[in-house]
Amino acid sequence: MSRLLRGIGVSPGVACAPAFLVRLDFPEVPDRAVRAEDVELEVRRLREAVDFVVAHLQELGERVLQRAGPEESRIFDAQILMTQDRDFLAPVEALIRKNQLSAETAYEFKALELRNAWSGSARLRERLADLHAIQLRMLDRLMGGAGYELWSIPADEQVIVVAHELSPGLTVQLDREHVVGLISEEGTRTAHAAILAHSLGIPAVMGVSGAMASIPPGMMVLLDGQNGTIVLDPTRDELDEAKTQVSRRHRLELQLEAILDSPAVTPDGRRITLMGNVDLPEEIETAIRVGAEGVGLLRTEFLLTGRAVLPTETEQADYFRRVATAFHGRTVVIRSYDLGGDKFPVTFKAPNEANPFLGWRSIRVCLDEPEVFRPQVRAILRAAADRDIQLMLPLVTLVEEVEESRAIVLEEGESLRRAGIRAAESVPVGVMIETPAAVLIADRLAEVSDFFSIGTNDLTQYTLAVDRGNARLADRFTPHHPSIVRQLHQVLEVGRAAGIPVSVCGEMASDSLSAVLLLGLGYDRLSVSPPALPLIKWVVRTVPDPAAARAAESALAAASAAEVSETLRSVVGEYIDVRLLDPRSALPGRGRVASLPPGKAS
Ligand code: PEP
Ligand code: MG
Repeated sequence: MSRLLRGIGVSPGVACAPAFLVRLDFPEVPDRAVRAEDVELEVRRLREAVDFVVAHLQELGERVLQRAGPEESRIFDAQILMTQDRDFLAPVEALIRKNQLSAETAYEFKALELRNAWSGSARLRERLADLHAIQLRMLDRLMGGAGYELWSIPADEQVIVVAHELSPGLTVQLDREHVVGLISEEGTRTAHAAILAHSLGIPAVMGVSGAMASIPPGMMVLLDGQNGTIVLDPTRDELDEAKTQVSRRHRLELQLEAILDSPAVTPDGRRITLMGNVDLPEEIETAIRVGAEGVGLLRTEFLLTGRAVLPTETEQADYFRRVATAFHGRTVVIRSYDLGGDKFPVTFKAPNEANPFLGWRSIRVCLDEPEVFRPQVRAILRAAADRDIQLMLPLVTLVEEVEESRAIVLEEGESLRRAGIRAAESVPVGVMIETPAAVLIADRLAEVSDFFSIGTNDLTQYTLAVDRGNARLADRFTPHHPSIVRQLHQVLEVGRAAGIPVSVCGEMASDSLSAVLLLGLGYDRLSVSPPALPLIKWVVRTVPDPAAARAAESALAAASAAEVSETLRSVVGEYIDVRLLDPRSALPGRGRVASLPPGKAS
């Protein structure tokens, strides 16, 4: 049996403790029929259980609000909406009445149907964890259980929880003093439970297939939430190595803190602009603290998460103004709603598609749904009245999409002017280069764009035909593939020839080795995830221009992603201890380097 397990590091920190296996299996629900005169009683029991579960979720939401923040607590809003969903409950009630079934039998039957339907849809698969959590709560209530989350973690010892899947509801109840680490078989970095673990500061590794079978209960486990590694029954040497790694990272964090106020300038004097990617309002503060020079990607999808109605134009304008004001007048690039793929909000009646990532998403949705797109454009124009705000269009594949969007911007500018509402007449309109189609017609897109920003996450997905959310393909999903390196080179050349700025806002820019590649290719504008910014700045300030250029040149000539990664590691390794180069190691004040047993490591 291998002692080393690998998964996805979703919440940084190192922990060592005995494993505590949590099995959250559905209870056995007997097929129970009821007498005709008791049918209405069962319907009432079902409704009472819904009320009970909703109240409980509200309570959990409150706790999350206090322990993590408003965005995290919205996870429960979505679960509440799902619990109360009449489209689901009405057929359950009909089944109780028609087939004279008990509430739990009917509920389980319909939930199973829904699970099967959702499992076949890439877009809905992400929401299965929520459905699972609700189903457990409902069945537990209907069958008179004691509350499934009340599994007992020994109060006097520290443990690492191992589960098949962690729901946000469970994760938030974990006591950080006792639960020092989390391991789950399911889940990726974007899973709700992963986001929560990160906010709560609990080191976590997800997507560890076979973890439940490979980790015996009570076995000592050494977990690294950065690298996504798990060592079973670690030796003294392995613990010592972990301890050394912790202190290396700690030393690095001190160095990063020291340059927070310094500019991003290479040793050869080249000035690099490091902007921040902001997904949630809470990130504004971090972005400013780490010195982001404006926002290179303001994601707006959160405005719709867990909501029953679209946010108003004024609500959006207020938010956009708030962001621009916080960044003291620096540029804020607002991306129009990038819905679709796995990003449809609960309330949006989206079609069920066989291939949602190749379907009705992003700019396509915006242009087809004027009542979604136009208020957003108007909000942007209003906020841009006296602030430096730009509009960016996601997933563009056609010149016409840009032309149509620009026409809408001008029309709404004119309409606001006529209505006497203070607003800019227009704003710069940029294009995200996220598909090979956009790369290949970049010269034509440049004629109608004010700037380009490369979304390497989608560009990698669409170029390599690798689903970015599929844990099984995680090894294949890499922007180091020579096809991506060549496209990055090509787009920058086109942008230069056309005289428009080109930046990179995909995750690649937040990865320090890859950032060196981008610098070497000639990029001087990167928009990065705020926690990663200090490390990227440190790398910018450390690696000389000729070394970065050398790495880029080799990468352009490479035959494989492995070769590109190796080249980068060897060039950068001349200046930096590359073992430290993980963006998630650079979280000043957030990374947890704890929970190694005293006496063995500290
Ligand atoms: C990208 O695709 O690289 C990107 C920045 O957009 P998102 O990750 O939001 O799809
Ligand atoms: Mg994208």
